[in-house]
Amino acid sequence: MILPITKLPAEILRKDTKNVDFPLSKEVKRLIKDMLDSVKKAEGIGLAAPQVGRNFNLALIYLEEAGIPAFPLINPVIKHTSKELAEIEEGCLSMPGVFGMVKRPAKVTVEAQDLKGKKITLTDDGWLARVMQHEIDHLHGTLIIDKLGKITRGKELLPKYEDNKA
Ligand SMILES: [Zn+2]
Repeated sequence: MILPITKLPAEILRKDTKNVDFPLSKEVKRLIKDMLDSVKKAEGIGLAAPQVGRNFNLALIYLEEAGIPAFPLINPVIKHTSKELAEIEEGCLSMPGVFGMVKRPAKVTVEAQDLKGKKITLTDDGWLARVMQHEIDHLHGTLIIDKLGKITRGKELLPKYEDNKA
């Protein structure tokens, strides 16, 4: 089922999320399926639960274009970041039309859990590193609007998305 994507300034996008319990409830399993349908439909590369109105510590990574099968990031924690930063253009499904440069650590190590609750560790310095950091930000109420350097597209749309935290 395709879920509507929540846009700024919706309050849920600014809230912290609660950890997902194991074994996964029917509700969460269903949510993961629906998030996959929704991110495909929206042509995104990642989607965090608050973006579909749910405050779970859960995101879906959809980087099939980069050869990475879609997978859920459940209860993720950033364990290590490189000192080296990379500045890359980002957009967000919760503020469509706005794109800008965002600086983040070039390389990260993330710990999360798989569908069975088993711990997984992911280290990356490419697209996956970038998308995981963007999604983990969402899980703690942070959006690119807080981190944008130069705005490359859609500057005129910004006032529509601004909220108190920005
Ligand atoms: Zn986003």
